[in-house]
Amino acid sequence: MAYSNVVVTELIKVGKVQPLRLLPVLTINKEIARGALTGWFDAEGSPGSFNLNSYKYDAPRGASANQDIVRLMAYLLDLLGIHYTIGGFKNAKEFISPQTGKIYKPKSGKTYTVRIRRCCIIRFSKLVGFRIRREQEQLHMLIAASKFKKIC
Ligand SMILES: [Zn+2]
Repeated sequence: MAYSNVVVTELIKVGKVQPLRLLPVLTINKEIARGALTGWFDAEGSPGSFNLNSYKYDAPRGASANQDIVRLMAYLLDLLGIHYTIGGFKNAKEFISPQTGKIYKPKSGKTYTVRIRRCCIIRFSKLVGFRIRREQEQLHMLIAASKFKKIC
């Protein structure tokens, strides 16, 4: 288990150039797919939050400027039967520094997100979740606080 996690972490790093090339390796079995997802959500994700007073809700999610990484993770979630939505938002536009008068451009034009749907948050917590303890605890708190009614 520990060995395959190291391999998966290395593959994700290497795969940053062409992430979809990793698909055949990461879909060999569900354990590898789970390891890759947990590694990615640990590095690029957040467990979400639920504010009881304002009913404001944030789903567990991961984000990347590389659309192929998001696609790869979506394939792996499909493999595990976890529902999600993919979104994208534009990064801040270029701006002129008042100090130097130079124009600055953000590195990438867009960031893509994978959000876990409510019906599958418990499944996500069991099959993927976070290895970072603080993050996994927050996910458990979210599940306890929100009492999801609709579970698919
Ligand atoms: Zn679902």
